[in-house]
Amino acid sequence: TSPPEAKKKHATEHAPQVVHSIESAVAAVKAPAKPYVLVGSGTASFSAAQAIKEQEPDANVIIIGNEAVPPYMRPPLSKELWFSEDANASQTLKFKDWQGNERNALYQDISQYEIITDVADLNKESTKIKLLLQKTVKKLDVEAHTVELDDGSVIEYNKVLLATGGSPKHLPNQSNVKNVTTFRTVDDLRKLDSVAKKDAHIVVVGGGFLGSELAVALAHRAKKEGLKITQVFPEEGNMGNVFPTYLTKWTTGRVIDEGVDVKAKHTIKSIASAEGDKVKILFENDETIEADHVVVAVGIEPRVELARAAGLEIDEQRAGVVVNAELESRRDVFAAGDMISFHDIQLGRRRIEHHDHAVLSGRHAGENMAGKNKPYKHQSMFWSDLGPKIGYEAVGLVDSQLSTVSVWAKASEADTPAAAVSQPENLRGVDVQDIKPSSETAAPASNKQPGNPAEGTVFSDEKFGKGLVFYTKNKKVVGVLLFNVFGKVQEARDVISNGTSVDQIENIVTKFDIHGS
Ligand code: FAD
Ligand code: NAD
Ligand code: NAD
Repeated sequence: TSPPEAKKKHATEHAPQVVHSIESAVAAVKAPAKPYVLVGSGTASFSAAQAIKEQEPDANVIIIGNEAVPPYMRPPLSKELWFSEDANASQTLKFKDWQGNERNALYQDISQYEIITDVADLNKESTKIKLLLQKTVKKLDVEAHTVELDDGSVIEYNKVLLATGGSPKHLPNQSNVKNVTTFRTVDDLRKLDSVAKKDAHIVVVGGGFLGSELAVALAHRAKKEGLKITQVFPEEGNMGNVFPTYLTKWTTGRVIDEGVDVKAKHTIKSIASAEGDKVKILFENDETIEADHVVVAVGIEPRVELARAAGLEIDEQRAGVVVNAELESRRDVFAAGDMISFHDIQLGRRRIEHHDHAVLSGRHAGENMAGKNKPYKHQSMFWSDLGPKIGYEAVGLVDSQLSTVSVWAKASEADTPAAAVSQPENLRGVDVQDIKPSSETAAPASNKQPGNPAEGTVFSDEKFGKGLVFYTKNKKVVGVLLFNVFGKVQEARDVISNGTSVDQIENIVTKFDIHGS
């Protein structure tokens, strides 16, 4: 804690003020209450804003974002929005989840914010979250407690949150080639939606989460629009950096079944413009393909430039801003979401690029900004769906470099307890799995988690209908993948937090009830 003099100095120097421009800094206008400035208008910021408002309903909360759309969730952009019957879905952002419930990617309607178009209006009395869109924060001054916008405006903060997410990585030379885009935002969705029309050949580069989800989503669209969808990446198969080899192979088979021409083990040597507005891709093996459009999904680079320039500590190995247990990078500067390198009490230092972590860490940072001062201990989960038929949820470290132990069962149509099989018998250690002889009427995949497959989905290829993959390190379980098994995230968290050893896996599998109960 700081000495009383310092506190006093801090209180007077950093009285909440909003300043219109650098030149008029001396004539700063008094703000209605201490502003909490949240940089970035993504999930982590929105979640933090809500948490602050819950603690302090009258708090002056300002979200600054450089997109044109109010805060929204990204997951449906590569999934449900492509399965909508509504041709206008990319404009309305409305969709039905796999259970058929009406949803909207926007967290709340624009009318629920105090929309700010001029920073002078930040002084407005309002209990709503203030939203300043299409503005980029280009400088953070942690000593002066200010952020500076691209238009030269300077805003003084009481506490600031950095939640700037990440930028998609590019292929070498990408910016010189027409019809090559990355995919992260609603703008990107609208662009791809307009391109994915009759007979177009679209190539998706990348075999990770985004590339695999998008390839399947586009293949669904292809059924209506006659598109040709090719997916290229260097790994052995889809999700090759995450799944064990056998599951990668199986999943790749399913992606092919959806109509995607998967070119695994293909590394791009170069891309170039070709005649007729086409893009030509040359691979290391000298094969070439031509496409009308290329979507590049080769990972993200966390946006840490502001933090770096402000002298905050960067974890170079994980490319994130280092935060302490309270999600603070230094006094009054908090950070959350994709861009943070934080200490996970169970699993060590991590950076996580998933929605639930953005929600939980954003919320936690917001609570701490409003004075709660609690350590971040949540074990976040993530999910991915390759269309409505294949879905998985996971907790902890899931990486194909780790050893795994798994158990599988047939997925089936109805939950009939009488038909359930009791104990799994086929745990054979690292990377060994087997089909548990289960009945046709064992428990189906059912869940309440947004974004997962519909109840009663039947998996015709029974070998990997549903199963559990335990990822291990130093003989302890560090990650759990729930493949077509839903509603068991808490059980998976417990496995990790209990420090479950490899020898104990067999005993805990029953908790997951994959053969029905
Ligand atoms: P972001 O959502 O990236 O938000 C950061 C915002 O800050 C952006 O709007 C950016 O423009 C803005 N910004 C950055 N710098 C500045 C600046 N200097 N000034 C002003 N504004 C700035 N995760 C899952 O767990 N499950 C999924 O199914 C899933 N699906 C996904 C689908 C897609 C298409 C994508 C792209 C991601 C998906 N993710 C999913 C990942 C998840 O969306 C991210 O982990 C999450 O969005 C991270 O939130 P964030 O708030 O940290 O960053
Ligand atoms: P880059 O050339 O390193 O790679 C750009 C992106 O394209 C990467 O995602 C990469 O996986 C992908 N890529 C590269 N070669 C490819 C190929 N033949 N076919 C298909 N995809 C390919 O450029 P960058 O990302 O702009 O990085 C700039 C600098 O930052 C480089 O020096 C790079 O090494 C470094 N960097 C390092 C890492 C890392 O170590 N994880 C990540 C990003 C950037
Ligand atoms: P990723 O890190 O999951 O995958 C990167 C992929 O890039 C690799 O799997 C690889 O196939 C590809 N790649 C790398 N180097 C390459 C090269 N040289 N040539 C060709 N391909 C190369 O990132 P992503 O799939 O691009 O996703 C972007 C971001 O969005 C990530 O943060 C991701 O976590 C997030 N996202 C998450 C979900 C989810 O959780 N369900 C869904 C979509 C997106």
